[in-house]
Amino acid sequence: MVRRLQATNRWLLLLDFDGTLVPVNDDPDEVSLDPLARRVLRRLARHRGSDVYIMSGRRLADLRRRVKIPGVRLLGLHGWERPGATLPPDQKRLLRQAKHWLARWLPALPGIEVEDKGYALAVHYRGAPLPVARVAGLVMLIARDLFRPGLHLLKGKQIWELLPRAIVGKGLATQGLLQGLPADTLPIFVGDDTSDESAFAILQHGLAVHVGTNAKTKATFCLRDPGEVREFLERLEAVISCKESSAHSNS
Ligand SMILES: [Mg+2]
Repeated sequence: MVRRLQATNRWLLLLDFDGTLVPVNDDPDEVSLDPLARRVLRRLARHRGSDVYIMSGRRLADLRRRVKIPGVRLLGLHGWERPGATLPPDQKRLLRQAKHWLARWLPALPGIEVEDKGYALAVHYRGAPLPVARVAGLVMLIARDLFRPGLHLLKGKQIWELLPRAIVGKGLATQGLLQGLPADTLPIFVGDDTSDESAFAILQHGLAVHVGTNAKTKATFCLRDPGEVREFLERLEAVISCKESSAHSNS
């Protein structure tokens, strides 16, 4: 892997947040970046050759509160939400309809929680007993069929999300970012969830890194947990540092 990292002078680093940079927490509000992860991200973002993005299912405002690292760019709602992003009125209307529909048809079940993300509807089933999760899953499949093609369903760890079609997911968002960059850019995507798989799938010429164990994944590399992600980032930063200082001394 180090050889791949060294073979270029431009790196596009795309990082998921929960489960990748920070451990998954039952209460997503309790999550914060540790100082060592912060330090390596700050260093990575300072290099001329590297672009650093955090691409998460969280809203952009939420990421901003938690990250605040100069040079690290943030994309909310699976890569779609940038500053000023807004949905067409018909997609907003459809989301409102879906919200009313879920309020009516998704029964109040133990462990099931509906979150209105403004531009998406999330149904969490953390801690729900299996039969309950199944019932909720069935309701979400019906919602998907009813509101197709305006809305689509994205499954993550212990979460289903109904998303407007403008929010295409991390794979196409990653492709969009790559299009604006020189051909020799090495894209690196690090993520832990099924919602990251679409990005792994498009990275044929990059490094797709899955975080976690025992998962079926399209990624070609694996790291165990956010601690190993930090070590990987430190290693990458050392490679970039070394390449940039040797380029500088040769010029
Ligand atoms: Mg994640």
